Amino acid sequence: MFLNSEIIFKINEIKDLSFEMGKDLSKSSTFKLVASGDFISIRTKEATALLLQLLYSYNLDYRVLGLGANQILPTTSPVPYLKLNFSFDKNIFNNVCDLYKVPASLSISNLTAHAVKFGIKGWEVFTGIPATVGGAIFMNAGTALGEFGSIVHSVDIVRKNGRMENYLVNEKSFSYRKNNFLNSGDIIIGAELKHFGIDLSIGSKIEQYLQYRSETQPLLAKTCGCMFKNAKINLPQSHGVITCPAGLYIDIMGLKGLQYNGVRVSRKHANFFENVGEARYEDVFKLMEIIYSELYDNFGIKFEPEVEF
Ligand SMILES: Cc1cc2nc3c(=O)[nH]c(=O)nc-3n(C[C@H](O)[C@H](O)[C@H](O)COP(=O)(O)OP(=O)(O)OC[C@H]3O[C@@H](n4cnc5c(N)ncnc54)[C@H](O)[C@@H]3O)c2cc1C
Repeated sequence: MFLNSEIIFKINEIKDLSFEMGKDLSKSSTFKLVASGDFISIRTKEATALLLQLLYSYNLDYRVLGLGANQILPTTSPVPYLKLNFSFDKNIFNNVCDLYKVPASLSISNLTAHAVKFGIKGWEVFTGIPATVGGAIFMNAGTALGEFGSIVHSVDIVRKNGRMENYLVNEKSFSYRKNNFLNSGDIIIGAELKHFGIDLSIGSKIEQYLQYRSETQPLLAKTCGCMFKNAKINLPQSHGVITCPAGLYIDIMGLKGLQYNGVRVSRKHANFFENVGEARYEDVFKLMEIIYSELYDNFGIKFEPEVEF
């Protein structure tokens, strides 16, 4: 449901947020698709709580936007986007701390820079992932080196009804590319991050992994990361599970470089799509359908989307 004038009036009465109707969002995701929508930028946790209370009282949906590195934005959105934009004193990164209290809106590239400088053990797990702290926790983003969830101590949440809560992470809080403690509509506003001591070799480990990623992935193109999840296949007669990498199967089919309107299968890494023109949601969806069908028809494997539509 689109916001009516009464709701917009009430939103504008809340301190520390700004509302823009029908904002151009083509720069609000890493894919840079043609997109627009109502956009609410929020500068404090108190404003987040008040806004959620208001939206909850009208039973209104919304979508939270981090860097938009895992979202395929529709050309026009029926729900408003909420973007956290909290201020933060980066002096915390001048020294090594036991726990780091950071806002959800912070880009995790700041954490990587700190890890390289001081050798923060455990922080190599998210090397090269474009994300905010909130997006990385929500997705439990990870690499071959590990997952973001492993370094999260606690999470500050504003629940859908506007109630604030500090959630202490336990061994069941995260699974593969997801968290298990947020309900639909909850917003992460901050987190305390831990580490596993100091190891001066971490800096070079991060730099090597970054180098590897830039050689194998189209990091300079407009993309949304991996489009399909790798498929897990149960072998017959309990012979175990194998992982089928989506990129490898797309590559074997010779589909690198396949283009639909402004979106193209990357020639560098087949599980990435690149926006090479004025690509739109519909173009991405169509190219995904084509690839999905080709892989299913030829290998009988259903590769599920990794990105959020
Ligand atoms: C070049 C490239 C490489 C990538 N490589 C990897 C990789 O190696 N590993 C990996 O895991 N991912 C990878 N990704 C995908 C992406 O970076 C991750 O999924 C990342 O966690 C997204 O973070 P974000 O802040 O952009 O969140 P968004 O994409 O904006 O949002 C993702 C989801 O999180 C929700 N969300 C975001 N912030 C909050 C919040 N504060 N509170 C509640 N919900 C929130 C959104 O509503 C949405 O549902 C890559 C993407 C690109 C473009």
